[in-house]
Amino acid sequence: MSGLPHIDNIVFELTEACNQCCRFCYNYWRDGSTPLPPPDPRLVRRTLRKLLSQASVGTISFSGGEPMLLRNIHDLALRARFKGARVNVLTNGGLLTEDAIANFKSIGVGAVQIPLLSAEEAVHDYLTQVPGSWKKAVDATRRAVEAFGKGAFTVLVITRVNAPGIPETLRLIDRLGIRGVMVNRFNLGGMGLKNLRELELDRDTLHKAFADVESFAAAHPDIRFVSGVCTPICVMDPSPYPHIQFTYCTTDFTRRPVTVSFRGDVRFCNHSPHVLGNIYDRPVGEILTDPEIIARYAEIPDHCRDCKLLKRCNGGCRAASEQVFGTFSRPDPLLKI
Ligand code: SF4
Ligand code: SF4
Ligand code: SF4
Repeated sequence: MSGLPHIDNIVFELTEACNQCCRFCYNYWRDGSTPLPPPDPRLVRRTLRKLLSQASVGTISFSGGEPMLLRNIHDLALRARFKGARVNVLTNGGLLTEDAIANFKSIGVGAVQIPLLSAEEAVHDYLTQVPGSWKKAVDATRRAVEAFGKGAFTVLVITRVNAPGIPETLRLIDRLGIRGVMVNRFNLGGMGLKNLRELELDRDTLHKAFADVESFAAAHPDIRFVSGVCTPICVMDPSPYPHIQFTYCTTDFTRRPVTVSFRGDVRFCNHSPHVLGNIYDRPVGEILTDPEIIARYAEIPDHCRDCKLLKRCNGGCRAASEQVFGTFSRPDPLLKI
């Protein structure tokens, strides 16, 4: 696609609404205080069209909120596929019917990711606050594996509530046929801030959780484990967990998931609440290369200035700092644990 800037990875938020109310939900707009606006299929379509006219996109991940609430999600996926983008769907699985999966498959959607929080129905449903959600997630996972094979992924968000059950949860995930698992430690933000006391991981629980994942991963080399939320290395050194791939944050937009909402707001990533600009006002490429914006993300936290690990760790998840402290210039709030 000549002339257009290329963005490798975009998280496109189709809606703020969701049919679950997860206690750990990091979405910055979710604090339980206001009702969420209903999905707006026409606006989403217009914004997607605008976005794809401004940039060539490698992979676009449909997210939310719950993206399956959009009745035109298949048309949106098809449009993105026509423009040459790979399409992934990040869903809680509650609305992922057999038909929906078959449609995604025929359109050429590459991957579907569904959270599974526990092998115990009661624990999963407690965390999502929706009775019956575990059963739906398990059924959807089964169907996704059948249709997508290695393109079916699970995300396991590790909180203090479900950490003790990790070995059983991983056994269930294995039995369902999943071959790619994101193990994301609870990251501060959104509803999670309301439920901090209950969910927050102390160092021992965090290390034990990753040790459990590591020993399962070592025994199951056919399953790939990725830690998708970067954790400050001074809080958790990844070297004892060689079978888990740890990702680290980068301010380089060509190597991280830039986030665009259905309104056209552009953000650093899906965890960040700070809007950099809107694609209806300026093209996305211009927003992402704006020197002022680049300078904002070049700031180094004082605490990390002399750290030898800075280049790799970058101060942890600083979108969490934005949510907790209102600034990107402080290190990950996890440092206090
Ligand atoms: S974590 Fe996902 S499924 Fe849960 S409330 Fe948030 S957007 Fe919905
Ligand atoms: S860069 Fe900062 S957060 Fe990361 S290891 Fe160093 S001191 Fe810790
Ligand atoms: S700021 Fe946090 S959530 Fe955002 S890309 Fe970096 S590690 Fe991921």
